[in-house]
Amino acid sequence: MAEAAYDTSNIFAKILRGEIPSHRVHEDDAVVAFMDVMPQGPGHTLVVPKAPSRNLLDADPATLGPLFTVVQKVALAVKKAFSADGVTILQFNEPASGQTVYHLHVHVIPRFDGIALKPHTGQMEKPEVLAENAEKIRAALND
Ligand code: AMP
Repeated sequence: MAEAAYDTSNIFAKILRGEIPSHRVHEDDAVVAFMDVMPQGPGHTLVVPKAPSRNLLDADPATLGPLFTVVQKVALAVKKAFSADGVTILQFNEPASGQTVYHLHVHVIPRFDGIALKPHTGQMEKPEVLAENAEKIRAALND
């Protein structure tokens, strides 16, 4: 069955257009990174290309190099900012995989020995905690 077309009213498209707020840690010509509002762990960040696609399956391959360059930068920054033992990278494609927002994005989640991930799209984090964590990541990105 053919997959649905890209919908410009998805929540990340609105964030990219500045129509709804986000705690941004990075922005360049092609990519934005901001805090996940329902983090699976402290410092959970989403890295999002500006170019529209539902997910990896319909993305222009030209967007992937710049996207993963930022994924690596953010992974290094969250590891440093939270003194993490490791970093999990997740990316979902279509509902069967667990995707809930239909604009390509990559999850970057700091990990700590012996501590499990919280549920995907679980609890909303307090805005002040997200702001504080975003500041730590921005500082690590600028080091
Ligand atoms: P996925 O299931 O991979 O599509 O993940 C979508 C992610 O976006 C989830 O981890 C949600 O917690 C997160 N999310 C949903 N709405 C927002 C929002 N307004 N700002 C930041 N993150 C969001």
